Amino acid sequence: MPIRIFSASIQGIDAQRIDVEVDSSPGLHNLTIVGLPDKAVEESKDRITAAIRNSGFLPPSAHHKKVIVNLAPADIRKEGPSYDLPIAIAYLLESRQIEFNPTGKIFVGEVSLDGSLKKINGVLPIAIMAKEQGFEELWVPHENRNEAAIIDGLKVYAAKNLMEIISHLDSTSPLPIVKKLPEKSIKSQNISFLSIMGQAFAKRALVVAAAGSHNILMSGAPGSGKTILAKSLQELLPPMSFTEAVEVAKIYSSIGLFNGGSLSLERPFRNPHHNTSAPAVIGGGSWPRPGEISLAHRGVLFLDELPEFPRNVLESLRQPLEEGVVTVSRVSGSLLLPAKFMFVAAMNPCPCGNYGDEKAICSCPPYNVIKYRKKVSGPLLDRIDVQIQVSREKVDEQKIPTTQGDFQNMRDSIQNARKIQAERYRDSGILTNSEISFKNIDKFCQSTPEASALLKDVVNAKNLSFRTFHKIKKLSRTLADLEGSEIVTEKNIAEAINLRVNEKLFLAA
Ligand SMILES: [Zn+2]
Repeated sequence: MPIRIFSASIQGIDAQRIDVEVDSSPGLHNLTIVGLPDKAVEESKDRITAAIRNSGFLPPSAHHKKVIVNLAPADIRKEGPSYDLPIAIAYLLESRQIEFNPTGKIFVGEVSLDGSLKKINGVLPIAIMAKEQGFEELWVPHENRNEAAIIDGLKVYAAKNLMEIISHLDSTSPLPIVKKLPEKSIKSQNISFLSIMGQAFAKRALVVAAAGSHNILMSGAPGSGKTILAKSLQELLPPMSFTEAVEVAKIYSSIGLFNGGSLSLERPFRNPHHNTSAPAVIGGGSWPRPGEISLAHRGVLFLDELPEFPRNVLESLRQPLEEGVVTVSRVSGSLLLPAKFMFVAAMNPCPCGNYGDEKAICSCPPYNVIKYRKKVSGPLLDRIDVQIQVSREKVDEQKIPTTQGDFQNMRDSIQNARKIQAERYRDSGILTNSEISFKNIDKFCQSTPEASALLKDVVNAKNLSFRTFHKIKKLSRTLADLEGSEIVTEKNIAEAINLRVNEKLFLAA
């Protein structure tokens, strides 16, 4: 009778159940693994044999038996070393060296030659799958214990070596159930936002962007503080809900980037360099992995020096910016990964960086300025609601700090505005003002007659596109929400125009 032990495989960011079946027959001693294993799984034969011997048990070679391990279903490619543990356990059970009931238990882990267990990727998605499929116990390497314990309703056992598991299974030395750690809330110390002097306009723009989850582009000379402003957005954003935090941690866990401790409620901030390869930014590769845009899910993706990014990378951002997901192609079909992030970009206004600066002279020929900006396409710019210029501060403004109290007020107003939006869009399938469609703009952005008249005048006078008109309305909705006002006022429209329409920067190009 073949023995069956349950394990799991990671496909993208999700786990799938894998059955590890072991059977033996008389014959020349050898261990064969079938069921589409990759090289790492194939190599596990020697590791498992050594680990079993070094844990005081008899390996297949001592039995004069032919042992076959089947990983099912066969059509899923199995990657990595996480099947070592279930294979070893299944073999020991099949050869009657241990006895226990494998029903309801999932085992994952890599074994070393000495029988110790090593951390594997994807334990959180495995825990989610185990819970969904009604498993009761999840067995993981000690280092993976905290991510496994995030999911309620599973008994998680973590072991440092094979022997600890065997001693538990035969009841000689039971292991404790791993306790879940409390979630880690957002930091309240060393806040970088407080170190930025002056920049009142840019700070206000960040608050508005954070409140309505609007994408933002900052253009300005080197040294104007764009990078630190972008980074501080992570501190302004409200913490994630438990569900959001699990969604994010699952992505990190799938590629072994889970922090190893508590579940963090702080939103991710990712800032890949412009030299980063397209698959690393977007996701993909021969064995598809989530890229930076998925690691920024529910948080911030910051691209500094935007025009320096390769065109194909920038163009690939359009689908995720529109849909909150990215399609990654792989050998068998394609994979959909979450990528719902706030997009923050920074750029110099021209190759020398001085264009538009009152205190410096731009040395670039006009043709080069235009060529430089054309690297960022119109359709991409269209997806960015807030577009501002950040200048180097004048000396007297450099002394104006943001106090801890101001910062707390900003955070509270962002959180309140988010609550108002959640309430308003409860039945609309969206979360924030940035997602209002053309169709619903009048329904959700009701404004005073004066406000409507002002917007109409500006649109006509500056010959603005319908898209820009739509963006201004969405921004004015967020500005009214920051004040707790149901109706959009003239003042809101005026400020929204300021946050969006910057002739010097973009309309001219
Ligand atoms: Zn220049």
